[in-house]
Amino acid sequence: MSSTVYRLREYTVVRDQEPDAEPHTYALQCAVCAEGGPPSADAHKAHGWMLAHLRARPGHLTYREHVTRPYRAIPGKWL
Ligand SMILES: [Zn+2]
Repeated sequence: MSSTVYRLREYTVVRDQEPDAEPHTYALQCAVCAEGGPPSADAHKAHGWMLAHLRARPGHLTYREHVTRPYRAIPGKWL
């Protein structure tokens, strides 16, 4: 007969602003052809790719934005 013991722990989830955190970026993707622009920390720069893509392919009218926003879980006390 085997048994398993679980321990519970509190965690606090915060935006990750540590030096080693993944960068917070924006990237646009065309929903018609799936082509995507480069990720950028500047949302306006990321949106600029969409306008350039639209000029080159006027029939591609729908887009999606991918936002990478890192978070970190900070371990708390054991329950
Ligand atoms: Zn497209």
